[in-house]
Amino acid sequence: MQKDISLKLSPAEAADDAAIKQFIARSLGKTETDITGYYKQKQSIDARGRQVWINLAVKAFVDEPFHQRAISPVQFIEVSKANKRVIIIGAGPAGLFAALKLIEAGIQPIVLERGKDVKSRRRDLAQLNREGIVNPESNYCFGEGGAGTYSDGKLYTRSSKRGDIHRILNLFFQFGADESVLYEAHPHIGTNKLPHIITAIREQILKSGGVFLFEKKVTDFIIEGDELKGVKTADGDTIKGDAAILATGHSARDIFELLHEKQLLIEAKPFALGVRIEHPQSLIDTIQYHCQVRDPNLPPASYGLVEQVDEKGVFSFCMCPGGIIAPAATDKEELVVNGWSPSKRNNPFANSGMVVQVEKTDAINFFKKENSKIDSSPLLLMHFQQAIEKAAFYAGGGKLVAPAQRMVDFCTHKVSTNLPDCSYLPGVHSVDIKNVLPDFISRSLQKGFMAFGKKMRGYYTNEAMIVATESRTSSPVRIPRNADTLTHPQVNNLYPCGEGAGYAGGIVSAAMDGERVADMIIKKER
Ligand SMILES: Cc1cc2nc3c(=O)[nH]c(=O)nc-3n(C[C@H](O)[C@H](O)[C@H](O)COP(=O)(O)OP(=O)(O)OC[C@H]3O[C@@H](n4cnc5c(N)ncnc54)[C@H](O)[C@@H]3O)c2cc1C
Repeated sequence: MQKDISLKLSPAEAADDAAIKQFIARSLGKTETDITGYYKQKQSIDARGRQVWINLAVKAFVDEPFHQRAISPVQFIEVSKANKRVIIIGAGPAGLFAALKLIEAGIQPIVLERGKDVKSRRRDLAQLNREGIVNPESNYCFGEGGAGTYSDGKLYTRSSKRGDIHRILNLFFQFGADESVLYEAHPHIGTNKLPHIITAIREQILKSGGVFLFEKKVTDFIIEGDELKGVKTADGDTIKGDAAILATGHSARDIFELLHEKQLLIEAKPFALGVRIEHPQSLIDTIQYHCQVRDPNLPPASYGLVEQVDEKGVFSFCMCPGGIIAPAATDKEELVVNGWSPSKRNNPFANSGMVVQVEKTDAINFFKKENSKIDSSPLLLMHFQQAIEKAAFYAGGGKLVAPAQRMVDFCTHKVSTNLPDCSYLPGVHSVDIKNVLPDFISRSLQKGFMAFGKKMRGYYTNEAMIVATESRTSSPVRIPRNADTLTHPQVNNLYPCGEGAGYAGGIVSAAMDGERVADMIIKKER
């Protein structure tokens, strides 16, 4: 007999296999020897009350042999001689999952990636952190696996209706992720493990006869009438295909400029901008778990905060418990920060983006106040984003040293006389962050922080430091596509896809969008 059972356990009980079996037996009125095994179906933490509980849903096997979780791996077929070839521009989650889906259906993907493979990319990241030198083709956003490779690898999304989350998680598992991604309510992989998974995906694409080219930056589209015939790359190559998936991510500004130059429709898209905030992880643990010291059976605590301030949303973004603040710029003279964590999340800091919604009118008002020429193009919000990143770069003191301030000092208009220890490797420099950010962002953040301090007692503290700027939260440009065909309105076989086109935000939703677009191409071919 197999039974689905829900248990509410203490962290120590949930970490103890024998204890779980005892609880299963007790709930079924059986003895422990009757329980031949179980596997976890769902696991979440309930830290709302004084006592922290682990909610566990298991499939238990009683008086019959135990069988491991049944997962049928996706089968990939040989496509090297396929008569259809689809160019995929960008090897982020959207591009990679589109490639896998096309292979399943017998279509050959030609993946073109401007950056390097994960291993070579790691060297550029080391140089970025050590010397503050940005390689515009190989950084935290560009290279194999896209922006998701050297990230926290959080694998959850709110856009559950946009695709099959379970399939995406199963594929991550198939390519080497820990089994826990299949049952944790908030699964994450970690920077140390993601590159191996991304490599395994590339090896599968190649093994199946797909093409995968690095340092192949697409610089032009060859369009005849309303058909795309191929693309040109920076090294002078022309690559032809039956269709193209444009999955270049939110930081490929040259692609947005190229589309605009070629008079292909794009639109300014509201996004969010602010700072990254870093607290001692032990403080966040104390607040969230209501304890002095975190129970060793609990993971480092995370949080999610949101507040409406003066009709603007202020919210935490991409929280990384036990993480590191990373320099995520993609070009010279810009300062962008983001965050990542290793799989164990065992660094002493907790960082999170803290951002404010930015609309078109905000950017128009900003440029008016700066006495700059107001840009009415669809690149308006991208130019706004660029302007703030540049201001942060010059405020920081060069070489990616980031402008920073203690949290309470920021809210009470004091320049911090010193700064706490911080995970950001290129270093920080004390400034008044309100001189770096537009007024409406500073004001909203200040009110937001004070409100968050009331929601999470202890959160509003000078032990926390803010670092500017968190600006690549989502794309400031949308590349429109027809709802029924998912193609660009002016080009029948060009498929804008993923976060850069404005249809995803995060690894899982980008992967789902890649699959969705690939499905549409498959449907069209059939
Ligand atoms: C440091 C960091 C941490 C993050 N942490 C998380 C997290 O924990 N969880 C989460 O869900 N999300 C996280 N994100 C966001 C997540 O990585 C993105 O949402 C996701 O990767 C978007 O996928 P994508 O495929 O649409 O685009 P991207 O991942 O941005 O991939 C686009 C790819 O296109 C390539 N490209 C760009 N221009 C060209 C060109 N002209 N020619 C050829 N190739 C080109 C780029 O090099 C890149 O590899 C993080 C991002 C960063 C930077």
